[in-house]
Amino acid sequence: MPTSNESHSAQVLGQTEQHLYYLNERVAIHQEMKNAFNALVAAANTANIDLSIASGFRSFDRQLMLWNNKFSGKTPIKNIAGESILAASLSPLELTHSILLYSALPGASRHHWGCDIDVYAPNLLADDYQLQLEPWEYSAQGPLAKLSAWLVKYAHQFGFFLPYASFQGGVASEPWHLSYAPLAQQYQQAFDIERLAKALNNSTILGKDVIIKNLDDIAKRYINNVCAAPTNVILTKQ
Ligand SMILES: [Zn+2]
Repeated sequence: MPTSNESHSAQVLGQTEQHLYYLNERVAIHQEMKNAFNALVAAANTANIDLSIASGFRSFDRQLMLWNNKFSGKTPIKNIAGESILAASLSPLELTHSILLYSALPGASRHHWGCDIDVYAPNLLADDYQLQLEPWEYSAQGPLAKLSAWLVKYAHQFGFFLPYASFQGGVASEPWHLSYAPLAQQYQQAFDIERLAKALNNSTILGKDVIIKNLDDIAKRYINNVCAAPTNVILTKQ
């Protein structure tokens, strides 16, 4: 996968697009995941599930914008009960933890890798339905229950798993977030906290001081704290 250590660490941090394949103008995935993803989509189709990507690759800069919009109070922050919280009422450290529940730090999002995607199925939703990417939509009572049940049963056969299947005290449960294990395991192993600190230091991230100061703790609680791939996940690239 990596052409060099330099380019690989740029991929880990979301600072290059050289590893990507564009499915359309909006959505890019890792080029070495294309076959596995197509196989997953074809299999879901036979179960009448139009498996589609709501969000694929995201760059460092895009994640930085999302982060800063939350930190500045421009976009709402939600707690684990789904209630909006007031950014202005929190200390910088409290605010940082509140954002990390749903949004990764720029440089530490699995979406940088291109092998992690948020999925849904438009054919299971009403035409005018606005997808929220909230857990209830994927629960047994939600409109995407059929997709969720299918993923739990079959995704591993194509190399995919759900790193945020359940809340582990870090990132909230994200039943829509799929990860392609053969590539994701390599990126996860390549995580380098010094490189992340350097990238954040060189950025315009809001809350920089408190983030850098608490980066070890943040890495333990959010970045490295994911559900393991099931032991039966296929680890050979298709
Ligand atoms: Zn995601």
